[in-house]
Amino acid sequence: MTSQYGNLIDGEWVSTPEVNVNINPSDTDDVVGRYARGGRDDAVRAIEAARRAFPAWARSVPLDRHDMLMRASAEVLARADDLGRLLAREEGKTLVEGVGEARRAGQVLAFMAGESLRIGGERIQGLAAGSDAEVTREPLGVVAVITPWNFPIAIPAWKIGAALAYGNCVVFKPAELVPGCAWALTDILHRAGVPRGVLNLVMGSGSKVGAVFAEHEDVDAMTFTGSVPTGRAIAAACVAGPTMKRMQLEMGGKNPLVVLDDADLDNAVECAVNGAFYSAGQRCTASSRLIVTAPIHDRFVNAVIQRLKSLRIGHALDPENHIGPVVDQRQLDIDLSYLDIGQRENARLAWGGDRLQRPTPGFYLQPALFTDVEPGMRIAREEIFGPVATVLKVKDYEEALAVANDTEFGLSAGICTTSLKYASHFKRNSEAGIVKVNQGTSGLDFHLPFGGRKASSYGPREQGRYAAEFYTIVKTSYTSP
Ligand code: NAD
Repeated sequence: MTSQYGNLIDGEWVSTPEVNVNINPSDTDDVVGRYARGGRDDAVRAIEAARRAFPAWARSVPLDRHDMLMRASAEVLARADDLGRLLAREEGKTLVEGVGEARRAGQVLAFMAGESLRIGGERIQGLAAGSDAEVTREPLGVVAVITPWNFPIAIPAWKIGAALAYGNCVVFKPAELVPGCAWALTDILHRAGVPRGVLNLVMGSGSKVGAVFAEHEDVDAMTFTGSVPTGRAIAAACVAGPTMKRMQLEMGGKNPLVVLDDADLDNAVECAVNGAFYSAGQRCTASSRLIVTAPIHDRFVNAVIQRLKSLRIGHALDPENHIGPVVDQRQLDIDLSYLDIGQRENARLAWGGDRLQRPTPGFYLQPALFTDVEPGMRIAREEIFGPVATVLKVKDYEEALAVANDTEFGLSAGICTTSLKYASHFKRNSEAGIVKVNQGTSGLDFHLPFGGRKASSYGPREQGRYAAEFYTIVKTSYTSP
């Protein structure tokens, strides 16, 4: 057995009495590593260290923050193959997807390094009686970063990178299923020169470590990505104290992909298959509702099934495979329960849904496609977060738009059409934060603003230069002569 990978608190790696043993979902006999499992005391010590480190870090020279983030970026990019392999091994994303995500993490750190040099302000002269004013941006303070398991390097990188770039200190709690990626990223940033206490990693449960981050008075802001119920619980804790925390909550989705009769069928099928099933459907932006107009419906469904038949599902580290396992037994049970719910709701399981056996024991599930789905069914309304997609047949574009918007979520939405009129109308009228035309609902550029509407999101956008809205405080100062 390898030794335990510790938490980083106040610049020191510390082990814990409790251990989190991390298992490979492609092969449950494969132990990825043994990681610290911190508790409430560790969380408090991390927050106190971040608070102590904040005054000096807030005054640090932006160029030093830039150089530090560039060193981290260079190492992430140089080691993208190894990091992608670790990601595939602990989360079950395929090797290609894992390496791609690691590269994105490196790129986003470089982008945020540049942003640390661009913290602008403005000066307004000639106000009453010759006074003038300045509008400046200042660091927020201690930012809690709580992340999900499905993008275990990219999401922490874009949150921590932005927090550090703008002069904030961080307490970071990753999802318990993916400690390896969190540890590796923290280790890289630590060795790149992040000063003591400025970045703290506390691996542990949501109900202990995460809850302390949400409640503690010395945390100024919370950036969270995860499910809606967890987001709601965190939000309640963040506003319960005397000073309410600033919040950025990125949550679930039930994303529509509309396919009109005039669509390029091959492209629409690619958008649907990639958007709904790659990463085993475990993306917040997954195209889990395929809304298809009647004239093209049967051809589309048949073509999607043909394409699904050509996909290889198996061990995530085998480069021949297109889709790996789902992340764990719990997620597999959820997926299987929705297959049952869908059939009891009288939707038709047109393809897939079998539990697959492979040479290694893992959580393999054949992608599943439901047709004859009505908008009110649970399988069409609730986020499943697995390789299970629904097809809803509609009469025309107007009905497609209404069904697309008929959801509590509003993360991403797509339309496949060759009509400029419908594409433009959909971009204007979709109730999603991200709209894609002739592209799947997943697959986004990490330097552009990211976020949703309705139950999917709360607070300012993530990523790109818009990240400054969350990670800085605006100050307005007036000066009289
Ligand atoms: P989750 O809500 O179960 O957990 C997310 C994080 O919150 C984990 O680190 C968890 O330990 C922590 N947590 C749990 N309870 C907590 C509590 N009471 N207080 C503080 N922290 C707590 O989500 P998950 O299963 O890890 O991830 C899947 C979900 O994430 C899906 O709903 C998916 O749509 C969503 N997601 C959203 C985006 C986005 O950008 N909108 C991106 C990726 C994933």
